[in-house]
Amino acid sequence: RNAIEVVNVSKIFGSGEGQVAALDTVSVSIRENEFFTLLGPSGCGKTTLLRLIAGFDFPTAGEILLYGQDIAPLPPFKRPVNTVFQSYALFPHMTVADNIGFGLEMLGKPKAEIKARVTEMLKLVQMEALASRRTSQISGGQQQRVALARALAPQPKVLLLDEPLSALDYKLRKEMQIELKRLQHETGITFIFVTHDQEEALTMSDRIAVMSSGKILQVGSPRDIYDRPSERFVADFIGESNFLKADVVGVSGGRATVRLSSGAEIPASLPEGLVPKGKVTIVVRPEHAQLSAASPGASLLGTVENIVYLGTDTHFHLRLADGEHFIVRRQN
Ligand code: ADP
Ligand code: MG
Repeated sequence: RNAIEVVNVSKIFGSGEGQVAALDTVSVSIRENEFFTLLGPSGCGKTTLLRLIAGFDFPTAGEILLYGQDIAPLPPFKRPVNTVFQSYALFPHMTVADNIGFGLEMLGKPKAEIKARVTEMLKLVQMEALASRRTSQISGGQQQRVALARALAPQPKVLLLDEPLSALDYKLRKEMQIELKRLQHETGITFIFVTHDQEEALTMSDRIAVMSSGKILQVGSPRDIYDRPSERFVADFIGESNFLKADVVGVSGGRATVRLSSGAEIPASLPEGLVPKGKVTIVVRPEHAQLSAASPGASLLGTVENIVYLGTDTHFHLRLADGEHFIVRRQN
């Protein structure tokens, strides 16, 4: 079942010369209970898409369905959707508990219900001990938890998270990634998570939509996106990639055989629906290449120019015969 369907949505800002297509005919379906991530570089339209789903702004064209219903007529507060912003937007003079209960107060819920729900949320985000602290007197990571609890308190069907971890330092961010996964799993709420960080997207998501310049280029599981990128931008943006020119020799059953410039023939997996012919560019992930001493059987010849030790693995930077740069990763 789809929680959200975005159908041919465009969003144009400005007019005339200054026109910007923040979203250009975007379609995507997000399943119920899914941890779904919008991934792309700054300015590609991620926030714009979230704002349209939340109802803070309206599409120039297209429609957005929530469980099959067009949500255009619903103002933001009537949508069963809530947002966690990067800035948290907490009330500093209010306690942790009052911040969490704020949305429920606004909805005019009975006092007893608010109290019970706030207690439940405090437990969910493990903030019981700090319930009566002011939010100006807790750490950034704790503020993040309060912002999450506040957004989850009214039991939205869909939670939108706009780069919620980007203000946290590396270690805390890693912890919160796992924490967010747990929260999503425990609450069963559909999460639409926005990030420009590919590693974060791979770690957390059931599925990822890769965006660039107002378009969605590919939607798939982390494995799909990593192993079968639909185009060069996706391969380049996610993980490390070596690009090689090649000729297609044959295609069968989702795989191709390609000939490299050296004359060597190697197998290549194909993105869904692609039947390549003639000259192509292939992607070789650094961990899928192996170094061996120069031999006639080698697929490619190159010279090692640099060796970078990274603890768990080592990167060998090679210069190939045609002058291209190539990286091989070896696990230590
Ligand atoms: P992201 O969140 O991926 O960084 P945004 O959705 O914020 O990207 O922005 C997408 C594009 O739309 C950018 O070029 C941005 O400058 C433009 N944009 C966003 N909001 C507005 C606005 N209110 N007015 C004009 N242009 C905007
Ligand atoms: Mg943004």
